[in-house]
Amino acid sequence: MKPSALITGASRGIGRAIARTLAQEGWPVCINYLERRDAAEELARELSNSGCRVLPYRADVADRNAVEAMVQAAAETIGPVELLVNNAGISQYGLFQEITDAEWNRILAVNLSGPRNTIQAALPHMIGEKRGNIINISSIWGLRGASCEAAYSSTKAAVIGLTRSLALELAPSNIRVNCIAPGCIETDMVRVLSAETRRMLVEQTPLGRLGTPEDIANAVLFLASKNTAFLTGQVLTADGGFIV
Ligand code: NDP
Repeated sequence: MKPSALITGASRGIGRAIARTLAQEGWPVCINYLERRDAAEELARELSNSGCRVLPYRADVADRNAVEAMVQAAAETIGPVELLVNNAGISQYGLFQEITDAEWNRILAVNLSGPRNTIQAALPHMIGEKRGNIINISSIWGLRGASCEAAYSSTKAAVIGLTRSLALELAPSNIRVNCIAPGCIETDMVRVLSAETRRMLVEQTPLGRLGTPEDIANAVLFLASKNTAFLTGQVLTADGGFIV
Protein backbone atom coordinates (compact mmCIF):
# COMPACT_ATOMS: atom_id res chain seq x y z
CA MET A 1 0.00 0.00 0.00
CA LYS A 2 1.10 3.56 -0.72
CA PRO A 3 2.58 5.29 2.37
CA SER A 4 0.50 7.80 4.30
CA ALA A 5 0.92 11.01 6.26
CA LEU A 6 -0.23 11.38 9.85
CA ILE A 7 -0.94 14.90 11.04
CA THR A 8 -1.67 15.31 14.72
CA GLY A 9 -4.12 18.01 15.79
CA ALA A 10 -5.58 18.31 12.31
CA SER A 11 -9.18 19.21 13.14
CA ARG A 12 -8.44 22.92 13.35
CA GLY A 13 -5.90 25.64 12.66
CA ILE A 14 -2.45 24.83 11.33
CA GLY A 15 -2.92 21.05 11.37
CA ARG A 16 -6.10 21.29 9.29
CA ALA A 17 -4.27 23.32 6.64
CA ILE A 18 -1.37 20.86 6.66
CA ALA A 19 -3.71 17.89 6.16
CA ARG A 20 -5.52 19.64 3.30
CA THR A 21 -2.27 20.67 1.60
CA LEU A 22 -0.69 17.22 1.86
CA ALA A 23 -3.89 15.54 0.63
CA GLN A 24 -3.97 17.89 -2.37
CA GLU A 25 -0.40 16.75 -3.11
CA GLY A 26 -1.58 13.14 -3.22
CA TRP A 27 -0.80 11.92 0.28
CA PRO A 28 -3.34 9.66 2.00
CA VAL A 29 -3.83 11.48 5.31
CA CYS A 30 -4.70 10.45 8.85
CA ILE A 31 -6.48 13.42 10.46
CA ASN A 32 -5.85 13.12 14.18
CA TYR A 33 -8.05 15.10 16.56
CA LEU A 34 -9.03 15.18 20.21
CA GLU A 35 -12.34 17.00 20.86
CA ARG A 36 -13.57 18.34 17.50
CA ARG A 37 -14.92 15.22 15.85
CA ASP A 38 -17.32 17.26 13.71
CA ALA A 39 -14.54 19.43 12.30
CA ALA A 40 -12.28 16.42 11.63
CA GLU A 41 -15.05 14.49 9.90
CA GLU A 42 -16.08 17.50 7.85
CA LEU A 43 -12.49 17.84 6.59
CA ALA A 44 -12.34 14.10 5.93
CA ARG A 45 -15.51 14.32 3.81
CA GLU A 46 -14.18 17.30 1.87
CA LEU A 47 -10.90 15.54 1.08
CA SER A 48 -12.51 12.23 0.39
CA ASN A 49 -14.97 13.89 -2.05
CA SER A 50 -11.99 15.17 -4.00
CA GLY A 51 -10.59 11.66 -4.28
CA CYS A 52 -8.15 11.52 -1.34
CA ARG A 53 -7.73 8.55 0.99
CA VAL A 54 -8.47 9.82 4.49
CA LEU A 55 -8.76 8.46 8.01
CA PRO A 56 -10.10 10.76 10.73
CA TYR A 57 -8.97 9.34 14.08
CA ARG A 58 -9.54 10.46 17.65
CA ALA A 59 -6.53 10.00 19.91
CA ASP A 60 -4.99 12.01 22.69
CA VAL A 61 -1.36 12.28 21.63
CA ALA A 62 -0.40 12.14 25.31
CA ASP A 63 -1.83 8.61 25.50
CA ARG A 64 0.78 6.17 24.23
CA ASN A 65 -1.66 3.27 23.76
CA ALA A 66 -4.12 5.42 21.83
CA VAL A 67 -1.32 6.68 19.59
CA GLU A 68 -0.07 3.15 18.88
CA ALA A 69 -3.61 2.10 17.94
CA MET A 70 -3.93 5.13 15.63
CA VAL A 71 -0.67 4.40 13.79
CA GLN A 72 -1.77 0.76 13.41
CA ALA A 73 -5.19 1.81 12.10
CA ALA A 74 -3.58 4.14 9.58
CA ALA A 75 -1.29 1.35 8.35
CA GLU A 76 -4.27 -0.97 7.87
CA THR A 77 -6.62 1.49 6.17
CA ILE A 78 -4.72 4.21 4.28
CA GLY A 79 -1.11 2.95 4.33
CA PRO A 80 1.88 2.86 6.66
CA VAL A 81 2.88 6.23 8.09
CA GLU A 82 6.03 7.51 6.39
CA LEU A 83 5.38 11.22 6.84
CA LEU A 84 4.66 12.22 10.41
CA VAL A 85 3.74 15.81 11.27
CA ASN A 86 3.70 16.45 15.02
CA ASN A 87 1.45 19.49 15.14
CA ALA A 88 -0.94 18.95 18.08
CA GLY A 89 -0.15 21.37 20.84
CA ILE A 90 -1.65 23.39 23.65
CA SER A 91 -0.58 26.71 25.08
CA GLN A 92 -1.04 28.33 28.41
CA TYR A 93 -0.66 31.90 29.56
CA GLY A 94 0.04 32.82 33.18
CA LEU A 95 2.63 33.61 35.79
CA PHE A 96 5.23 30.88 36.27
CA GLN A 97 4.65 30.93 40.04
CA GLU A 98 1.00 30.07 39.53
CA ILE A 99 1.32 27.06 37.23
CA THR A 100 -0.17 24.03 38.95
CA ASP A 101 1.31 20.53 38.77
CA ALA A 102 -1.63 19.43 36.65
CA GLU A 103 -1.16 22.26 34.15
CA TRP A 104 2.61 21.75 33.95
CA ASN A 105 2.28 17.99 33.49
CA ARG A 106 -0.44 18.29 30.86
CA ILE A 107 1.45 20.74 28.66
CA LEU A 108 4.54 18.53 28.80
CA ALA A 109 2.44 15.44 28.09
CA VAL A 110 0.82 16.93 24.98
CA ASN A 111 3.59 19.09 23.53
CA LEU A 112 6.61 16.89 24.29
CA SER A 113 5.48 13.36 25.16
CA GLY A 114 2.98 13.60 22.28
CA PRO A 115 5.74 13.72 19.63
CA ARG A 116 7.66 11.07 21.58
CA ASN A 117 4.63 8.77 21.44
CA THR A 118 3.90 9.26 17.74
CA ILE A 119 7.53 8.95 16.70
CA GLN A 120 8.03 5.77 18.73
CA ALA A 121 4.87 4.30 17.21
CA ALA A 122 5.82 5.18 13.62
CA LEU A 123 9.51 4.27 13.79
CA PRO A 124 9.38 0.47 13.50
CA HIS A 125 7.93 0.74 9.97
CA MET A 126 10.20 3.65 8.98
CA ILE A 127 13.33 1.89 10.23
CA GLY A 128 12.26 -1.35 8.55
CA GLU A 129 11.83 0.44 5.20
CA LYS A 130 14.80 2.79 5.73
CA ARG A 131 12.49 5.62 4.71
CA GLY A 132 10.69 8.27 6.70
CA ASN A 133 10.14 11.94 7.27
CA ILE A 134 9.28 13.54 10.60
CA ILE A 135 8.32 17.20 10.88
CA ASN A 136 7.80 18.69 14.32
CA ILE A 137 5.95 21.95 14.89
CA SER A 138 7.80 24.00 17.49
CA SER A 139 7.40 27.78 17.83
CA ILE A 140 9.42 30.97 17.82
CA TRP A 141 8.83 30.76 21.59
CA GLY A 142 11.03 27.68 21.57
CA LEU A 143 13.84 29.79 20.12
CA ARG A 144 13.44 32.73 22.46
CA GLY A 145 11.86 33.16 25.87
CA ALA A 146 8.22 34.07 26.33
CA SER A 147 7.19 35.89 29.47
CA CYS A 148 4.15 34.24 31.11
CA GLU A 149 4.50 31.25 28.80
CA ALA A 150 7.37 29.45 30.52
CA ALA A 151 5.80 25.99 30.28
CA TYR A 152 4.83 26.38 26.63
CA SER A 153 8.18 27.90 25.69
CA SER A 154 10.04 25.10 27.52
CA THR A 155 8.17 22.40 25.63
CA LYS A 156 8.76 24.09 22.30
CA ALA A 157 12.51 24.42 23.02
CA ALA A 158 12.51 20.74 23.97
CA VAL A 159 10.91 19.86 20.63
CA ILE A 160 13.88 21.52 18.91
CA GLY A 161 16.27 19.41 21.03
CA LEU A 162 14.28 16.29 20.19
CA THR A 163 14.41 17.18 16.48
CA ARG A 164 18.17 17.67 16.41
CA SER A 165 18.93 14.57 18.47
CA LEU A 166 16.67 12.31 16.43
CA ALA A 167 18.00 13.75 13.18
CA LEU A 168 21.41 12.41 14.22
CA GLU A 169 20.14 9.12 15.62
CA LEU A 170 17.88 8.30 12.68
CA ALA A 171 20.00 9.53 9.77
CA PRO A 172 21.62 6.08 9.33
CA SER A 173 18.08 4.75 8.76
CA ASN A 174 17.48 7.40 6.09
CA ILE A 175 14.84 9.10 8.24
CA ARG A 176 14.83 12.89 8.16
CA VAL A 177 13.72 14.90 11.19
CA ASN A 178 13.10 18.63 10.87
CA CYS A 179 11.22 21.27 12.72
CA ILE A 180 9.20 24.35 11.88
CA ALA A 181 9.07 27.32 14.25
CA PRO A 182 5.99 29.33 13.31
CA GLY A 183 5.58 32.94 14.33
CA CYS A 184 2.15 34.35 15.17
CA ILE A 185 -0.43 32.49 13.12
CA GLU A 186 -4.11 33.35 12.84
CA THR A 187 -5.75 30.38 14.61
CA ASP A 188 -7.88 29.81 17.71
CA MET A 189 -4.66 29.79 19.74
CA VAL A 190 -4.03 33.43 18.83
CA ARG A 191 -7.70 34.49 18.57
CA VAL A 192 -8.02 34.13 22.35
CA LEU A 193 -5.54 37.00 22.80
CA SER A 194 -6.86 40.54 23.24
CA ALA A 195 -7.22 42.77 20.18
CA GLU A 196 -4.49 44.98 21.64
CA THR A 197 -2.03 42.06 22.00
CA ARG A 198 -2.76 40.89 18.47
CA ARG A 199 -2.22 44.41 17.13
CA MET A 200 1.18 44.48 18.91
CA LEU A 201 2.11 41.11 17.43
CA VAL A 202 1.30 42.38 13.93
CA GLU A 203 3.38 45.50 14.58
CA GLN A 204 6.33 43.35 15.70
CA THR A 205 6.13 41.22 12.56
CA PRO A 206 8.22 42.86 9.82
CA LEU A 207 5.96 41.50 7.07
CA GLY A 208 3.12 43.38 8.79
CA ARG A 209 0.57 40.63 9.26
CA LEU A 210 -0.16 37.47 11.20
CA GLY A 211 0.70 34.28 9.36
CA THR A 212 -1.99 32.01 7.96
CA PRO A 213 -2.25 28.26 8.60
CA GLU A 214 -1.50 27.86 4.88
CA ASP A 215 1.84 29.67 5.35
CA ILE A 216 2.88 26.87 7.71
CA ALA A 217 1.33 24.13 5.57
CA ASN A 218 3.48 25.33 2.67
CA ALA A 219 6.59 25.13 4.86
CA VAL A 220 5.62 21.55 5.76
CA LEU A 221 5.19 20.76 2.07
CA PHE A 222 8.68 22.10 1.43
CA LEU A 223 10.20 19.82 4.09
CA ALA A 224 8.07 16.89 2.92
CA SER A 225 9.33 17.24 -0.62
CA LYS A 226 11.95 14.96 -2.17
CA ASN A 227 13.64 18.21 -3.24
CA THR A 228 14.72 18.72 0.39
CA ALA A 229 16.07 15.18 0.77
CA PHE A 230 19.41 16.52 2.09
CA LEU A 231 17.82 18.60 4.87
CA THR A 232 17.70 17.11 8.33
CA GLY A 233 17.99 18.45 11.87
CA GLN A 234 16.89 21.92 10.74
CA VAL A 235 14.66 24.50 12.35
CA LEU A 236 12.77 26.39 9.66
CA THR A 237 11.47 29.63 11.12
CA ALA A 238 8.28 30.79 9.40
CA ASP A 239 7.43 34.00 11.19
CA GLY A 240 7.30 36.95 8.79
CA GLY A 241 10.67 38.06 10.12
CA PHE A 242 9.56 38.26 13.79
CA ILE A 243 12.85 37.07 15.30
CA VAL A 244 15.34 38.07 12.64
P1 NDP B 1 -5.21 25.29 17.64
O1 NDP B 1 -5.44 25.51 19.10
O2 NDP B 1 -5.93 26.12 16.65
O3 NDP B 1 -5.50 23.74 17.29
C1 NDP B 1 -4.93 22.74 18.07
C2 NDP B 1 -5.14 21.41 17.43
O4 NDP B 1 -4.48 20.42 18.24
C3 NDP B 1 -6.61 21.01 17.37
O5 NDP B 1 -6.82 20.29 16.18
C4 NDP B 1 -6.77 20.10 18.58
O6 NDP B 1 -7.76 19.09 18.41
C5 NDP B 1 -5.42 19.43 18.63
N1 NDP B 1 -5.05 18.90 19.93
C6 NDP B 1 -4.88 19.58 21.10
N2 NDP B 1 -4.53 18.75 22.08
C7 NDP B 1 -4.47 17.50 21.52
C8 NDP B 1 -4.17 16.22 22.02
N3 NDP B 1 -3.83 16.02 23.31
N4 NDP B 1 -4.21 15.17 21.17
C9 NDP B 1 -4.54 15.34 19.88
N5 NDP B 1 -4.84 16.53 19.34
C10 NDP B 1 -4.81 17.60 20.17
O7 NDP B 1 -3.62 25.39 17.47
P2 NDP B 1 -2.74 25.95 16.25
O8 NDP B 1 -3.24 25.42 14.98
O9 NDP B 1 -2.57 27.39 16.45
O10 NDP B 1 -1.33 25.30 16.62
C11 NDP B 1 -0.85 24.09 16.04
C12 NDP B 1 0.58 23.90 16.47
O11 NDP B 1 1.35 25.03 16.06
C13 NDP B 1 0.76 23.78 17.98
O12 NDP B 1 1.77 22.83 18.26
C14 NDP B 1 1.21 25.17 18.38
O13 NDP B 1 1.96 25.16 19.57
C15 NDP B 1 2.04 25.55 17.18
N6 NDP B 1 2.22 26.98 17.02
C16 NDP B 1 1.13 27.82 16.84
C17 NDP B 1 1.32 29.17 16.69
C18 NDP B 1 0.20 30.14 16.49
O14 NDP B 1 0.47 31.36 16.50
N7 NDP B 1 -1.03 29.70 16.27
C19 NDP B 1 2.68 29.75 16.73
C20 NDP B 1 3.72 28.80 16.91
C21 NDP B 1 3.48 27.47 17.05
P3 NDP B 1 -9.34 19.28 18.81
O15 NDP B 1 -9.76 20.60 18.25
O16 NDP B 1 -10.01 18.13 18.13
O17 NDP B 1 -9.42 19.21 20.29
